[in-house]
Amino acid sequence: MIIVMKHGATKQEIDDVAEKIEKLGYTPHIMFGVERTIIAAVGDERGKARLQTLESMHGVEDVVPILKPYKLASREIKKENTVITVNGIKIGSEKIIVMAGPCSVESREQLIETARAVKEAGADILRGGAFKPRTSPYDFQGLEEDGLKLLSEARDVTGLPIITEVMNPIDVDLVAKYADILQVGARNVQNFALLKHLGQFKKPILLKRGMMTTIKEFLMSAEYIMSEGNKEVILCERGIRTFETATRNTLDLSCIPVLRKETHLPIIVDPSHATGHWEYVAPMAKAAVAAGTDGLMIEVHSCPEEAYSDGPQSLKPAKFAKLMEELKPFIKAVGRK
Ligand code: PEP
Ligand code: MN
Repeated sequence: MIIVMKHGATKQEIDDVAEKIEKLGYTPHIMFGVERTIIAAVGDERGKARLQTLESMHGVEDVVPILKPYKLASREIKKENTVITVNGIKIGSEKIIVMAGPCSVESREQLIETARAVKEAGADILRGGAFKPRTSPYDFQGLEEDGLKLLSEARDVTGLPIITEVMNPIDVDLVAKYADILQVGARNVQNFALLKHLGQFKKPILLKRGMMTTIKEFLMSAEYIMSEGNKEVILCERGIRTFETATRNTLDLSCIPVLRKETHLPIIVDPSHATGHWEYVAPMAKAAVAAGTDGLMIEVHSCPEEAYSDGPQSLKPAKFAKLMEELKPFIKAVGRK
């Protein structure tokens, strides 16, 4: 249920309603909006008193059901877009945010060289995996904490905030110590134990859509994080599996307007994992901007031929710099910065 507070409801009235919601056995989530405050009361409704009774409380304008299965992620409860600020960078605002860097952190030279290059080309955030979800257990699994240390060194050198993947609940503390944004990879989109654990952290989470995940399931996964208290979720479309084999996955561009309608959360598109080939990254990055993404995640490697993972889809720094230039008219055309 959504408890819509009257315009100008006092703090005391808001607190009283939240307290009452808790007494009735639900969890209150207060959302302060520009126009008015709303309180989402979420929880299993079976065998509990009806929330409709809250209508008689001071400061309450209306009590309405949330019709979507995802509640906190839904645009029903929050009309305006959520903006997530990371070290002063606003994700989900006017500016299109570009996260770039290697698939894996491999060495100091590789990371620092790539980090400097993406910064120079105008990237906002540095990406790089220290814990890698590889299909084969015999493939490079990541440098783990050594990789995280290199990422924080690269942050010091470039000033770029860092995003990196966490795969296992037991590593969350460690990764959160270094990262500015925690990434949940496509393969873990329905690792509910991990999602619930991340919901208890105060760090933004970039949640990648799984290769076999519907938009509804994707939003339900975001809901797992949000229902635990962490409202800073960024959604990332990275391609879904279809019958097509010419590309690694199929970039579901239409999910951008669908997500925009369904949720207030920021949307990022990753054309690198979506296509699997560096030549297709630039056209799909432009298409994603045209379709309304809030940002892009792009793999860049100082020497893709020697990359430990995802070399074929990684852009060389010069190609990335060219793409950043070529994106400008697309960004302007959609009225973004
Ligand atoms: C990655 O970002 O390097 C990655 C493994 O992505 P995904 O989870 O989308 O496959
Ligand atoms: Mn990768």
